[in-house]
Amino acid sequence: MSKFNALMVNKDEESGETSAAVTQLSAADLPAGEVTVAVEYSTVNYKDGLCLGPGGGLVRKYPHVPGIDFAGTVEASDDPRYKAGDKVVLTGWRVGEAHWGGYAQKARVKADWLVPLPSGLDTRQAMAVGTAGLTAMLSVMALEDHGIKQGPVLVTGAAGGVGSVATAILANLGYDVAGVTGRPETGDYLKSLGAKQIVAREELNETVKRPLEGETWGGCVDAVGGAMLARVLGQMEYGASVAAVGLAGGAGLPATVIPFLLRGVNLLGIDSVMQPYENRLKAWERIAKDLPMNKLEDMVQPAVLSDLPQLGKDILNGQVKGRVVVDVNA
Ligand code: NDP
Repeated sequence: MSKFNALMVNKDEESGETSAAVTQLSAADLPAGEVTVAVEYSTVNYKDGLCLGPGGGLVRKYPHVPGIDFAGTVEASDDPRYKAGDKVVLTGWRVGEAHWGGYAQKARVKADWLVPLPSGLDTRQAMAVGTAGLTAMLSVMALEDHGIKQGPVLVTGAAGGVGSVATAILANLGYDVAGVTGRPETGDYLKSLGAKQIVAREELNETVKRPLEGETWGGCVDAVGGAMLARVLGQMEYGASVAAVGLAGGAGLPATVIPFLLRGVNLLGIDSVMQPYENRLKAWERIAKDLPMNKLEDMVQPAVLSDLPQLGKDILNGQVKGRVVVDVNA
């Protein structure tokens, strides 16, 4: 039986320590599922950093193959919706956490978790977008559903994965984007993605002093949470919405109810993991249409399987710029 490479994480039961290494597996090792995919690309997301690290994130069982998203070609399928040769994308459904994921040259998953690759995207582009980009698109769609107001649209954690794609999509749709970053050196990068204004993290990273400040932002995609989200809520225009995506800056929310009561601010929770098939397909189709593909290369840092242990640490330390695309066959 032919062998393939996988980045496998093991846990030493005595010490509790985890270690990750490129290992050879065969198809018989893969978990159950209707569709076997020859994986081409995967990515590094914040959750992958957690799953690669000592805490294990949401890993249920070791040994484990992380990788919360991947794109590739169907090799075999027991489900009539897919046949060998079809190009597919996977995000969410706890793949890479409770089920082996994309850090391998083969993956076996449920057919329901896949979507066909939308026309206009190849597998590498799909992973330049990945879970972070899908979440950015879901956020933009949620803001549109609730109405984006006059002022600039704020993107927090702008130089990260979600933030980079959100910036590029919103700018391409014609909105004035203000990107919040703690890394001033990424200013030119954010401007190349279409940001009109760069806001220094320190300007927003304090606990709320006044529950309402000037009405400044017409919408917000927030990847940071914590004190920054609390501060931003009080700066939203009347009736504007914040799409809350992540907690890179903390899970607490030291806010008051005042922005909701006196400004009618909407706080929209965005979850990419359990999105039904129709929503994922719609979001991927919008990505193919509304994300300028020429910006993708600027966002991408290429990687191979053996780079992943270090990249997992980097993303947890907020040191990754844009999107890391892992060529699992390199
Ligand atoms: P990245 O690490 O790529 O980006 C996060 C960015 O947040 C960093 O690049 C940094 O941006 C900023 N940041 C990091 N730490 C802090 C801090 N302490 N205070 C303020 N800003 C900080 O991660 P992703 O973009 O992939 O994910 C962002 C968040 O979204 C994570 O919490 C992730 O778990 C979550 N997420 C949620 C999804 C969902 O379905 N809801 C799907 C995907 C991700 P800068 O350097 O520009 O300041």
